[in-house]
Amino acid sequence: MDIQFWGVRGYVPTPSPEYLRYGGNTCCTSVTGSRGELIVIDAGTGFCQFGDALLEGPFGRGEGEMIALISQTHWDHILGLPFPAVVHVPGNHLTIYGPDSTRGSLGIIYDGVLSPVYSPVYGLANIGATHDFRSITSEPFSVGGLTVQALPCSHQDDTSSIWSYRIDEGDSSIVYFADMRYANAQMFNDAADFARGADMLIHSAPYTRAESMRDSAHSRVEDAIEVALRAEVRQLFLFHHAPSRTDDQLDELLAHYRAELAAQQSPLILEAAQEGVKISF
Ligand SMILES: [Zn+2]
Repeated sequence: MDIQFWGVRGYVPTPSPEYLRYGGNTCCTSVTGSRGELIVIDAGTGFCQFGDALLEGPFGRGEGEMIALISQTHWDHILGLPFPAVVHVPGNHLTIYGPDSTRGSLGIIYDGVLSPVYSPVYGLANIGATHDFRSITSEPFSVGGLTVQALPCSHQDDTSSIWSYRIDEGDSSIVYFADMRYANAQMFNDAADFARGADMLIHSAPYTRAESMRDSAHSRVEDAIEVALRAEVRQLFLFHHAPSRTDDQLDELLAHYRAELAAQQSPLILEAAQEGVKISF
């Protein structure tokens, strides 16, 4: 599998120079299987560069097929979807999995945020590629040789639906946890079980526990490390970086927690997700 980060920032894009080494686009990660299967997880503003990179291949000719897994319908996870040219090329097809909400299905939510009130796209009807929305469930499904599993989670309470994803190919696996807040021990247990033995855990971690007054709805750095250690994953990539965290501050944060892991003689590899970086295993 090839995993590539296209957007690693949470909440809002950060285009200023002091944020650009790790990257300023919001959430988007692609997973490519060994047979060329293409899955994209979340479609924040990073989805625009991801889409542009596809124009050279079948997507440029209207022969592209893409699976999108949306973790939640907050802006930093969905707003990039309608903008790259590939989604307007007739013949391309997008299958978009994600959560329905109390406000309606995922398709209705998307149509709403693309309505003339909010967007120059003027609704889903103006997207040229064919597309269909599917409600995500816990039932595993296959995309070529990849197996996708989903786990329901939430932001601290049940008011917003979030889904986490696991993708396996043979003995290789990646797990993606976005935005959830661990409200009790059971949620830690469920997350660790879901991520068990993964090669790569991508986990949102905008703030530390000491910074919790800045945000009460997202997992913290220490939560991500705790789940990674309990699940015995090989490498942990922190992402959904806080929009106030500069590149230099992210370096410092990483150095601090790497030193803690080294002191514990932990084999866990700790990284901060960086826009453009591709990991293969
Ligand atoms: Zn988010």
